[in-house]
Amino acid sequence: MSVMATTTARAYGTPSAASALAQLNIQRREPTPHDVEIDILYCGVCHSDLHQARNEWHNTVYPCVPGHEIVGRITRVGSAVTKFNPGDLGAVGCMVDSCRTCTSCLAGTEQYCLSFPTLTYNCPDKHLGGHTLGGYSTSIVVDEAFTLKVPAGMDLAATAPLLCAGITTYSPLRHWKVGPGQKVGVVGLGGLGHMAVKFARAFGAHVVLFTTSPGKINDGLRLGAHEVVVSKDANAVKKHTSSFHFILDAVSAQHDINVYLSLLKLDGTLTLVGAPEHPLPVAVFNLLLPRRNFAGSAIGGIAETQEMLDFCAAHKIASDIEIIPIQKINEAWDRLLRQDVRYRFVIDMASLKG
Ligand code: NAP
Ligand code: ZN
Ligand code: ZN
Repeated sequence: MSVMATTTARAYGTPSAASALAQLNIQRREPTPHDVEIDILYCGVCHSDLHQARNEWHNTVYPCVPGHEIVGRITRVGSAVTKFNPGDLGAVGCMVDSCRTCTSCLAGTEQYCLSFPTLTYNCPDKHLGGHTLGGYSTSIVVDEAFTLKVPAGMDLAATAPLLCAGITTYSPLRHWKVGPGQKVGVVGLGGLGHMAVKFARAFGAHVVLFTTSPGKINDGLRLGAHEVVVSKDANAVKKHTSSFHFILDAVSAQHDINVYLSLLKLDGTLTLVGAPEHPLPVAVFNLLLPRRNFAGSAIGGIAETQEMLDFCAAHKIASDIEIIPIQKINEAWDRLLRQDVRYRFVIDMASLKG
């Protein structure tokens, strides 16, 4: 087997579940004919980065370099690349490849690839061996088929979170056809939740935000919610019993989902996008009466991700962000765990280039 040529990139990663993130060098492949090489400008900080690095999903391979909300500038393109030229902007989300031949891939739902997609980090690397390493790094090399176009005029730092938080909320709201005349709930005002509020409002629904943080009430209204309910107030929550068409739950930790199931009307749907470490018990009578649906959803396909980016450009939607240098990443993760993010940290990768 021939050894593939590589270049060295700087990154932030961790050698174990218990270590803090620290700087390290990683190898990126030389672009093959269908690849683009991206100089990473910004990378959003998703709660999944933390779950993965700390092995909360019990499948992490080390060293782990997280990051799947990537926006950058294309520096080199392979000989067969047609979508991009050097100097163009490019973006990468949670996937860098899939089998491209199964029914899910052919339907444009590569995230449900029957052979499992190649995620941007923590998946077998088909080119270099080992496992994929994410966007907390100075550069990345990705097949053009999994590289998104950034519409002109977008704020690049505020666009980065759209690549995961954006598509993960856009996709289920579209799939369950959220729109005018519907009452729609969003649970948890973090990175995903704040995008869900913006999209649900843009799609014309009546939007109710459920938050555990009284300090987020005004932000919830400003971001587009018609009503904000502090979920610790059981009476305030009860007033909404059996009234929702659709609820999107974007909570990162253990919580009682039965409270939200009981708020659905007949044939209403509660969809989980949050991915806490432990199982969430369901009281079955909350599903039986009155005939409610309990569902899940993962990111979105590549074509749908491009559609979402174009929708955001047309409707002037972006993420509300706090830009950090990469040296502050461990502090940012601590704040994420304290629910102290308004509403997405984005790493300015210039801080790693120096
Ligand atoms: P985040 O920014 O940390 O937001 C999570 C929010 O959940 C918090 O801001 C908080 O909102 C609420 N929350 C946190 N702890 C809670 C608790 N103990 N009880 C009740 N509410 C609590 O996280 P994120 O990046 O948006 O990610 C959210 C979840 O989605 C994570 O589990 C992540 O791994 C998952 N995810 C899934 C997909 C997918 O494809 N399905 C994609 C990306 C991320 P309030 O302060 O408003 O209560
Ligand atoms: Zn994510
Ligand atoms: Zn496939």
